Amino acid sequence: MPPRNYILKVCLLGDGAVGKTSLVHRYVYDAFDDKYIMSFGTKVSKKTVELPEAKADLMIWDILGQKTYETLHGAYYRGAAGALAVCDFTRPQTLESLASWVSGFRGVVGEKPVVILANKSDLPKSYGVEDVLAFASTMGCEVMETSAKTGANVESAFWSLTSKMLEVGK
Ligand code: GDP
Ligand code: MG
Repeated sequence: MPPRNYILKVCLLGDGAVGKTSLVHRYVYDAFDDKYIMSFGTKVSKKTVELPEAKADLMIWDILGQKTYETLHGAYYRGAAGALAVCDFTRPQTLESLASWVSGFRGVVGEKPVVILANKSDLPKSYGVEDVLAFASTMGCEVMETSAKTGANVESAFWSLTSKMLEVGK
């Protein structure tokens, strides 16, 4: 039997400048661009993940510009199979915001998988991974330490989310 083909919408969540766009860019194009581009609206990138038993086209929705969890429209989340919630190791405030981001997302789509990415792991940290783990356990989320700059764990973050989304879809 040919592998099943899934189309999965993935949302990027998290405060401005945590590295959402850089993570998508690293994953889809395997590149890092140091320029900070601010724009409006949403960008959707596509990447195909081949698993032994299934093929998944990830439609990755990235909020452009400085949307906050208060100003973001529910339409951004609708139909999503999962999300990557990103905080930034250099700013503790970005971890605190994740509770609102994740509950906003789950308020629209229900109990879909969310993986928390503690990004900028290449820079000096202003809090520890244990702080991220403590928060994540209250939300039932997995945690990965990533760097869009070096590429560390970026591929595995998307992999991990994809396999969780397919579990839910079974
Ligand atoms: P977004 O607003 O969440 O989409 O954040 P961006 O992807 O635009 O990144 C904001 C800034 O952080 C940019 O200057 C990026 O170059 C930088 N940045 C993003 N990810 C990393 C990372 O993993 N390490 C380092 N050192 N800088 C990063
Ligand atoms: Mg961005």
